[in-house]
Amino acid sequence: MSRDPVEQFEKFLRHHGRNVTETRRKILRAVLSRRGHFDATDIWESLRRERVSIATVYRTLELLEEAGLVRKVRLGKAHAHYENVLAREDHGHLVCRSCGRVIEFELGRIRASLERAAAREAFTLEKVHVQGIGLCPECSRGA
Ligand SMILES: [Zn+2]
Ligand SMILES: [Zn+2]
Repeated sequence: MSRDPVEQFEKFLRHHGRNVTETRRKILRAVLSRRGHFDATDIWESLRRERVSIATVYRTLELLEEAGLVRKVRLGKAHAHYENVLAREDHGHLVCRSCGRVIEFELGRIRASLERAAAREAFTLEKVHVQGIGLCPECSRGA
């Protein structure tokens, strides 16, 4: 994943017969400047002066997810949240299946055991995605 993300996205778009538009590039740049979790509205607001429609932001985030540049992190009833997979250290998510809250944690020994497994299989490990589904404290109290 050391490739230039803009180049990677353009390749993906061309491969899928889609146009590389300046708007899509702008949305990607806005996404790349993000560190934490964000949603479509956050990106749309940061591009307010560019006259980009929120529908275009939604569609482009879906394309970026397909291209492997962002990851959807929020599940459950809440609307989708994303994160830029390039700017961040690998970390795990605990996702509440009731309210959609996402708690992050460091991988620590999980990461180490994945690395050992990969080494054993001569597998080149690029990205790690660990997710636990369950109930947050508030939701398990209410259950
Ligand atoms: Zn919850
Ligand atoms: Zn995260």
